[in-house]
Amino acid sequence: MTTIEDEKDVGGDVRDASERTNRTTGILSLTSTELQALRRPFPTPGGAAIQATRQHNLSVIRRLLYENGPQSRPELARLSGLSLPTVGALVAELVDAGTVEDLGVIAEARVGKPASRVAIDTAGNVAIVLDLTHDDLFIGATVDLDGAIVDRVEVDIGDAAGDDALAHAVDLASVLIERTTAQVVGIGVASPGLVDENGTVHVADRLQWRDVALAEVLHSSTGVATIVGNDVNLLALGLSRFQTDAGRDAIVVALDNGVGAAVLVGGVPVLGEQFAAGEIAHLTVDRDGDPCRCGRNGCLDVVVGAPHLSRRVAVSGPGVLEPAGRMLGEVLAPIVLMLNINVVVVVGPADLVEGAFAAGVVSGVHSRLRPTIVEGLEIEVGRHDPDLVLRGAAAQVLETQLGMR
Ligand SMILES: [Zn+2]
Repeated sequence: MTTIEDEKDVGGDVRDASERTNRTTGILSLTSTELQALRRPFPTPGGAAIQATRQHNLSVIRRLLYENGPQSRPELARLSGLSLPTVGALVAELVDAGTVEDLGVIAEARVGKPASRVAIDTAGNVAIVLDLTHDDLFIGATVDLDGAIVDRVEVDIGDAAGDDALAHAVDLASVLIERTTAQVVGIGVASPGLVDENGTVHVADRLQWRDVALAEVLHSSTGVATIVGNDVNLLALGLSRFQTDAGRDAIVVALDNGVGAAVLVGGVPVLGEQFAAGEIAHLTVDRDGDPCRCGRNGCLDVVVGAPHLSRRVAVSGPGVLEPAGRMLGEVLAPIVLMLNINVVVVVGPADLVEGAFAAGVVSGVHSRLRPTIVEGLEIEVGRHDPDLVLRGAAAQVLETQLGMR
């Protein structure tokens, strides 16, 4: 039986947990019970419709300041179509919240009444991001407008699935929102599986999710606009925005948990009609190969997926790595050719993908294409920075909410 005394005890544990933040990494690690206890319910403001309109107008002002740089209030009124008094009230609220700073009157050699200008305060705005792709861990972070991670909370979810896993995701976002003093411009979530453009997760096996309206649930629970994307797509976005300067047209293949891929065209991940673009795991590459869980043989998943590949190395030795890499390279070559891709990134466990496997990928791609095509092609194979998924999710939020690109 749970008594009030018990709940107080949980609170005490949580305070201890807050003090457990790792001083070196800055990560707060929680159990799911501690996470629930930390989360406080949000106050429900009266007049939900008025609230929604005001939130919309606030985001319009933020976005205009991003796209156009510092503006005066009359300029914002003209650009937004809102009345000057409304703009004045919205700007005052954004200044109070620390989102916008008042630059004062800027002297100009022009005729007319000088007006003070306002600008976005880059430190005063953050995105909350969640990475739900690890087996027993949900990772949450707060990311500022420069892509820097300023807070991080991890929760051990054990083998939670279904509604329990969904509740943990909501709790994690809520705790991160409470911990920041900055304006939260949106929530971005990296989910495994098939995710549509509305943020509904159609299939995510590990979490046993089928048609879970994740973006809608997070939005209605926190009041914050939410974007959900497939993890490999968001990794590709993170790589494109923060790591490689040539990544507007790129293929990213992730081998850690099975095989997932993303295709970026013009800097935007391709989703596909069934939101399954890049789902190359069950492409047959070796008809005489090992049986696959899909019922067929020699799928890319059983040839290069990290769990299968490491098992094959254990049984047959490292000689299997180069041919496996080559098969992946041969699969990627026609996509490179068809879309005129100039960057291919393959990420996975370093002990598997670096060395012989990487050499195999390069020779597999090169063997299928004319030298003139591969001349400008960059192929990177290695371990990726796990923060890139979080930063890719933040980029997605900021670009959608603030029109940063
Ligand atoms: Zn298969």
